[in-house]
Amino acid sequence: SQRVVIIGAGIVGTNLADELVSRGWSDITVVEQGPLHMPGGSTSHAPGLVFQTSPSKTMTHLARYTVEKLLSIEKDGHKCFNQVGGLEVATTPARLEDLKRKHGYASSWGIEARLVSAEECCKMYPHLNNEMVLGGLHIPSDGLALAARATQLLIERTSKAGVRYLGHTPVTGIEREGRRVTGVSTPSGTIPADIVVSCAGFWGVELGAMVGVEIPLLPLAHQYAKTTTVPALAARGINNMINGMNATLPILRHQDKRLYYREHGGQYGIGYYGHRPMPVVAASLGLTPKEVDEKNMPSRLEFTTEDFDPAWKESQKLLPALQNTEIADGFNGVFSFTPDGGPILGQPSHLDGFYVAEAVWVTHSAGVARALAQILTTGRSDIDVSECELSRFEEIQLNRDYVSETGQQNFVEIYDIIHPLQQRASPRNLRVSPFYARQLELGAVFFETGGWERPWWYEANKDLVKSLPPSWQPVERDAWSAQLHSPISAAEAWKTRNAVAMFDMTAFHRFDVRGPGAVGLLQRLTTSDITTKPGTVTYTLLLNDHSGIRGDIFVLRLDDDVFQIGANTATDLAYLTREARVQEQNTPGQWIQVRDITGSTCCIGLWGPRARDVIAGISTVDVSNKGLPYFSLKKTVIQGIPVTLIRKSYVGELGWEIQTSAEYGQRLWDTIWQAGKLHGLIAGGRSAFNSMRLEKGYRTYGVDMTTEHNPFEAGVSYAVDANKKDDFVGKAALERLSKKVPSRRLRALTVDDGRSMILGKEPVFYKGKAAGYVTTAAFGYTIGKPIAYAWLPGYVREGETVEIEYFGKRIRATVEAESLYDPEMNRLSQ
Ligand code: FAD
Repeated sequence: SQRVVIIGAGIVGTNLADELVSRGWSDITVVEQGPLHMPGGSTSHAPGLVFQTSPSKTMTHLARYTVEKLLSIEKDGHKCFNQVGGLEVATTPARLEDLKRKHGYASSWGIEARLVSAEECCKMYPHLNNEMVLGGLHIPSDGLALAARATQLLIERTSKAGVRYLGHTPVTGIEREGRRVTGVSTPSGTIPADIVVSCAGFWGVELGAMVGVEIPLLPLAHQYAKTTTVPALAARGINNMINGMNATLPILRHQDKRLYYREHGGQYGIGYYGHRPMPVVAASLGLTPKEVDEKNMPSRLEFTTEDFDPAWKESQKLLPALQNTEIADGFNGVFSFTPDGGPILGQPSHLDGFYVAEAVWVTHSAGVARALAQILTTGRSDIDVSECELSRFEEIQLNRDYVSETGQQNFVEIYDIIHPLQQRASPRNLRVSPFYARQLELGAVFFETGGWERPWWYEANKDLVKSLPPSWQPVERDAWSAQLHSPISAAEAWKTRNAVAMFDMTAFHRFDVRGPGAVGLLQRLTTSDITTKPGTVTYTLLLNDHSGIRGDIFVLRLDDDVFQIGANTATDLAYLTREARVQEQNTPGQWIQVRDITGSTCCIGLWGPRARDVIAGISTVDVSNKGLPYFSLKKTVIQGIPVTLIRKSYVGELGWEIQTSAEYGQRLWDTIWQAGKLHGLIAGGRSAFNSMRLEKGYRTYGVDMTTEHNPFEAGVSYAVDANKKDDFVGKAALERLSKKVPSRRLRALTVDDGRSMILGKEPVFYKGKAAGYVTTAAFGYTIGKPIAYAWLPGYVREGETVEIEYFGKRIRATVEAESLYDPEMNRLSQ
């Protein structure tokens, strides 16, 4: 097997060693700067509360596996997980509502959960102030991870299996030859390795810097305190400290005041997120001392009592039993935050053999370790981990200022009620398209993604709402779905379907792939035959070896050796870059250049039945259906501006994406705008776009489908060329699958009452039982009903009724045939 060096013997590093050993890998060394019995990282003092359920399916499933695993690690009759259950209480009506939403996530992701009354909360948790609590959410399988103990037991068991552990050994450098790591350096010499995995927790930034990799995590201090003995707790006689099993009450969250609680025998432990963010630079903490104990370790900073005062007051209100006690001990413990709150997992594209698994909570530790072990041993993880990918960040998001500001913000908001469309106030305006000034003039309301400002709707279109025909009049929404929404998007959709609208497509990733090896690369990675003639557009999939979908892309063949790729994420860029490099190494002379041209170019989607009239007025190119058919492209000039006209559409209407380089952008916008006036042209935003996309059934990668799904289930087998002769990644697995009937399917649903909104991730019930979950949803203005896409068992048929749960309310919906709009594609191919 490969020689592996794991840096860090915290809960992540030791779990990784264990997961690799259990997959048959044997040459593993774990290098730890602190003493092995108590390394001194975040794990050494983690109180270990595991609340599994989150809005993310991935994170919930990583947590669920962690619970299973900790329950399986046992010594002296005691496991490493105390499954006391988890209770989140609401003390405000807004929180009470939100717990319903959270209960929905649990149902969606397969975690047993129950909404409980205030009375039941107090019965389950007698110390609660019954005058404050309005209700709660109880999750019986949550509980306390005994993280430090699990770490020790994992060290014990993997040492027996041959894993070498080196304590008191700081890694001071990472050795490499060319683009491959070859080992790590330590004060006692070099340890050779084929694979180096940094599980260094909040020291990740320093480790990444050793190989020129920006790790976008921010170490922050977070307060945790223990009370003196609480008579009401002590009276229960749970002072049994054997192997840490010193709690029987559920772990408790009081999110309205940013607090959580656990028992430590007769004492309470209180964690607080309400204080000011306290960023830490790991390098400034100095070396881990030779002797580490519970009070003396680098991840444990001095307690700042004044920051904790509000927490103490609020705790005494919620738990009156604390009123006669005091804080016995507290500390400001350090752990990692990231720009989007997710962990960081994976490898950089420029280097082989270097991996990271950082910014991981105890809650997700074994899950993350298993995912990485699966990636290392088989090339893919069972649980889709694209949202954890190191390569998911855009360049601007790796900047230290960005990481610091967004990391602190995530700390502050960690327990807030967050709307799925909630926008951060800062940092903003990091990336704007060349059309930005014009969009401002039109009153664009911008939403941000990947640093890009993208118009969601335009206030300039407000008056159009009044003139909408009755069947297009927007329905009234509930207060939650009305947030961050405007009825203007109905008018923008109407204009697109009945006249013409222009959409800013600049923020969609565009990569230039060229060179003598380009055809070979794309033939090998995609499910389509891209050896078509220059001037064609192909919608195709990127699969993994197991035929899981790792991306969907557009391949534009511009010339024999020149392609443009329309992609979803920065991870696609990292994948293409890495694969191009590997292929070049294997086929010398067949060079390939992969370049991100998103920011240096811009793009307008001009769509609607009158789009051709607009183009015809400003271009001499033959834009008839014959001259430029669907899925073809042409380079041309519009009023002196060099452009590429690409006949494709995300919204299901006739039209083009018109692309040019950034410096011509504003002129292009003005030229089209001017020409369009005659034909009723408006600017449209992403909200209308999303609605029309769903009506047409176009999937969004990462939300509607992921590596967990294959093309047959996801309803995108039309993007697989069954006759493709060349081999491609995932082909063999696909051939096996094509003979099977999918056991689940991504389905289009419409809401029967024509008005009840859904926002995504809600559970779907079939014959009264939770059977699946919603991916994306939107109001379909053309069809006059809300639409939801949902994963459902294969046996659920078209025409059948299902129920979607939205804040505890069941909404009836019907499984529909696709597409909901223009299934014959008449609008696109005229
Ligand atoms: P660590 O445990 O920090 O391990 C990293 C190891 O790498 C360290 O031992 C370090 O010494 C070693 N290392 C670093 N650099 C080098 C080097 N150059 N050479 C060799 N070794 C190196 N999470 C939960 O899920 N639930 C909770 O209730 C919870 N509560 C928390 C409360 C507090 C106060 C804090 C601070 C954190 C809490 N967390 C909680 C978060 C959790 O503790 C951490 O996310 C988790 O322990 C991180 O584990 P790790 O293995 O990645 O990192």
